[in-house]
Amino acid sequence: MITSAYVHVPFCRSICAYCDFARWMYQEETAWEWLRQLEREAAEKIQAPLTTLYIGGGTPNALTAAQLEALLALFDRHHAPGMEFTLEANPEYIDDMFLSICARHGVNRLSIGVQSFEEGLLRRMNRSHDAAQIEAAIARARAHGIENLSIDLIYGLPGQTLDMWLADLQKATALPITHISLYSLTIEENSAFGRMGVLAADDELEYQMYAAAIDDLRAHGFVQYEVANFARNQAVSRHNLVYWHYEDFHGIGCGASGKRPQGRYDNTRSLQRYLKEGPCEEWTPLSVEEQMFEAVMMGLRLREGIDLERFAGRYHKRLEDHFSTALQKHLGNDLVIEDGFLKTSEQGKFLLHDILVDFL
Ligand code: SF4
Repeated sequence: MITSAYVHVPFCRSICAYCDFARWMYQEETAWEWLRQLEREAAEKIQAPLTTLYIGGGTPNALTAAQLEALLALFDRHHAPGMEFTLEANPEYIDDMFLSICARHGVNRLSIGVQSFEEGLLRRMNRSHDAAQIEAAIARARAHGIENLSIDLIYGLPGQTLDMWLADLQKATALPITHISLYSLTIEENSAFGRMGVLAADDELEYQMYAAAIDDLRAHGFVQYEVANFARNQAVSRHNLVYWHYEDFHGIGCGASGKRPQGRYDNTRSLQRYLKEGPCEEWTPLSVEEQMFEAVMMGLRLREGIDLERFAGRYHKRLEDHFSTALQKHLGNDLVIEDGFLKTSEQGKFLLHDILVDFL
């Protein structure tokens, strides 16, 4: 039984310069139509109480209050006790009305799209919030009882220096938050940055920024439990652990993806098609070999690594035997086995891509 779901809200009120996600400018009537289609898809897919539910986008709080209420109500009957319920939100729309809707429907974790605190960078990215709104949003969320708060930060932005990045980290770690996700900027062809010919930061600067973040966040009590994710007070994202443990999950909504035992699927990214025909899943079957590789690819992102006994139980093959050549090359240098878990060493976590090429 699948007990995790990702729901994609494909609407935004403005479009960020780096964005190539499945999203459209918000329109009220279209959003109602989308909700009707989403209700059908959710009812069909969800067959067991959910232990994690993640509503992302897009910008879920680009919806009106009535639409957000209707969206969250669709899942009321699917909560398992203690379900982790994450809602992505942009800081400028985190107001008392939004937070009381969250409280009514059991949202217990917010993932806030901060990206940077630097006003010039925020404008360059076409983000429609400022640093003061970020702080106000976090204070307001806590006043409404939501203490599990995550923020996203981007590094490698055009014009961003190492000092600017360190200043962002300093502001982030001073906030009463529990979780930080880091993203290095990639220039997508179909984003505004891509069309403008903006160049990503060079590899050396990007590496320096990433390494500085690891040190800085550690010094402020954040544990790096995944390549790009840091938690304090053990507030790891249980939903994202489902991905990294290579478990199955529902993908619901236009532009969402999901996983079942024998493969993955992607719902249509065309909003028009979704409104007319529903999710139109494109199914990608995966052989056992492909699944084993993907399980390694996801599992090595985690600091705890891969549970070797669990792997063997799942695929009826020992990881150590199936990937013996890659292990011979990396074990003792970039990879270690400790207490039954295969994981990257301190140096290996910077070389994950190269390690995975050998596993592939
Ligand atoms: S980055 Fe997020 S908020 Fe910005 S346009 Fe893309 S989906 Fe919308």
